This record gives sequence, structure tokens and C-alpha cells, in this order.
Amino acid sequence: MQFIDLAAQQARLKDKIDARIQAVLAHGKYILGPEVAELEERLSAFCGARHTITCANGTDALLLALMALDIRGGDAVFVPAFTFAATAEVVPCMGAVPIMVDCDPDTFNMDPESLKRCIVMAREMGLTPKVVIPVDLFGLPADYTAIEPIARDEGLTVIADSAQGFGGRIGNKVTGTFGQITTTSFFPAKPLGCYGDGGAIFTDDDNLAELMTSYRFHGKGDYKYDNVRIGMNSRLDTLQAAILLEKLAVYEEEIEARQRVAERYSSALAPRWSVPTVPGRMLSVWAQYTLKAEDRAARDAVMARLKEAGIPSVVYYPMPLHQQTAYKAFPVDPDGLPVSEEVAGQVFSLPMHPYLSEADQDRVIEALLTD
Ligand SMILES: *Cc1c(COP(=O)(O)O)cnc(C)c1O
Repeated sequence: MQFIDLAAQQARLKDKIDARIQAVLAHGKYILGPEVAELEERLSAFCGARHTITCANGTDALLLALMALDIRGGDAVFVPAFTFAATAEVVPCMGAVPIMVDCDPDTFNMDPESLKRCIVMAREMGLTPKVVIPVDLFGLPADYTAIEPIARDEGLTVIADSAQGFGGRIGNKVTGTFGQITTTSFFPAKPLGCYGDGGAIFTDDDNLAELMTSYRFHGKGDYKYDNVRIGMNSRLDTLQAAILLEKLAVYEEEIEARQRVAERYSSALAPRWSVPTVPGRMLSVWAQYTLKAEDRAARDAVMARLKEAGIPSVVYYPMPLHQQTAYKAFPVDPDGLPVSEEVAGQVFSLPMHPYLSEADQDRVIEALLTD
């Protein structure tokens, strides 16, 4: 059994992807070819954002967003402690200070009350609060309903890190349209992945869109050899865009299939396990299906049992950012980060992908229900 079975999806789409790749080889426009523009249009249509700017990966997407917002030394950027390092990594790259916010014990997403404490602390430290980066962890949208008003009151820009959550929803609103800017990643194992690195940025703001389009191409002006700002090289390859076009065409269907797997897991496991919480009106795209064990020892035991049964499971993430070597020196919530520390010792994720058979789901369920 695979944790994420990319081969099953490839078997389904192989002819279409092959044809798309051949088309790129025939026209030869490998950088910013027509497939890139087509993909950007389709992504905008999918999520409802006015602009989509594709780029080289999800980390660059965050970096380009911070560049467009002119983040610099003395600025504070609020990030969850319980996330993948890329969310925070881009902040010191811009000379700014990442401040680590605690998470909710049930959704694992940014805790709005912790965010408020961190904003007060940042001001006391003499920093200027500028940006908050909520993460749609494991595919579940962050609590934008609570975070957006806080950001508005405090004058913060919201960059939604939806690397794991593109296509998730709150009511009818799709990720890509929360905050002033949303970023995502097309890393192969993400819900919408390509066959290499890739990323995208979404915004309704014409000015930010223009800036990020320029920054991703060496800060180009209207004429590409007149560079008007210091930028970088961060474009999505035409080949990757071609592959993504075929994957995007079945993505809605795949999200529904992920939903069915998650619902089946949850209804079978809920009597015995702490199953994922999806607050009302939210739709997760289930980048991960994550359970919580009592503690580290219980988690080690159950993961060993799964392994014996031939079932892969993975811990995302065993260590919150503030305990990692490179991030230890950055400020954290003045009340500490007890929830991030606790859940890092409890969580483990099960095999999850749209092509996971009911027979395999049953094997996972059985292994978790028997001692
Ligand atoms: C994967 C990921 C990223 C970075 O994406 P890359 O495409 O690998 O650079 C950023 N944030 C989160 C939460 C992620 O999971």
C-alpha cells in the first residue's frame, strides 16, 4: 500500500499527459509557453481569484508575496509554529522577524487568540506588525473568519499559505481567495502536484499581481531587458504547466474522492480514535488524514503496529518550528506554544489519496481497531 499513490493517477491520465508533453516538445516554448498562460487562466477560474501568477515552487510563492509587500528589517511576520519550515523560512530571508503563533488542538491551524497576543508582543518589542501567514494545514482552510478581522483591525496583510490546501473551501469561497494573497505549491505530493517543483500565487489586487509578475522574472519592466526592480528567476516550466492542466481537469473529482476516503476513515475510527475535526462550512482537500494518539509512546506503538501490517504512516510534523535549530532564536507567543508542542508528539497521518481502494481503507481501519 502506498502512502500517496501517484502512479494510480498517472495511469489514469497518462495518454492525455503524454499528448500535452508532446505538444510542448513540438512548439518548444519551454519558458512561459502558452500552457503557462492557459494554466493561470484555469486556476483563476477554478478558485475565483482575479490573478494567478505561477512560479517555481511554493516557497518562492511566499517569498515573492513578501517582496511585493516590501517586507524588510524591523517588520514582524506572524507564522504558525506547527507547519512546514518554508512558511517561516522566507521571513528572515527578507530581513524581517518571524513570530511563532500557537495552533488549535483540534484543527492544528493557527489559533487567533495566540495571534492577538503575538501582535501585542511584537509592538512591545519595537517591531512593526506587517503580515500574518495562516497555513491551511493538512488541507483544511485556516480560520480566516476569525483571522481576517484581526488583520484588518491591526493593519496586517494576510498571506494564506495554501500549499496543502488549494481547492479547500469555507462555504462557497475557495482557497485562493482568502487574504490579500494566497500561495500554493505543486510539489508532487501536494493535493494538486506536478512532476517536479511548481507553485502559484493568487490575488485580486492588480498592483500586487503586477509586482509579483515582475519579481518572478528578474524584476522586469514593460521591456524584458529593462529591469526596473531587483527580482529573481522563479517561473513555472511550460512542461509542468502542461502536466498540471490535465491534473487540474480532474482535480474537483479527486477532491470528492478524497472526501469519501476521509469520511469512511472517520466514521469507522471515531469510536476509538481522535479523528480530524472539520469545522462547519469548511471543506478540507485532505493533503493528510491525521489522527492524534494519547502521547509519543502510544503513537510509536500504533505506528509500529501499522508498519507490521504493511501500512505506511508518517508524522507531520515531529517538531514544531521553534524547537528546530535554525528557528530557536525567534520570538514565540508570550504564553508559550504548549499546543504545538503537544500535538507534535501525538499526530500521525494515514495513507490518503483519491485512488485508495475501499479494500485498502479497510485494512488500515482494521489495523487501527485491533490491538
Ligand atoms: C510544501 C509546503 C510549502 C513549500 O512548497 P514547495 O513547493 O515545496 O516550496 C510551503 N508551505 C507549506 C505549508 C507546505 O506544506
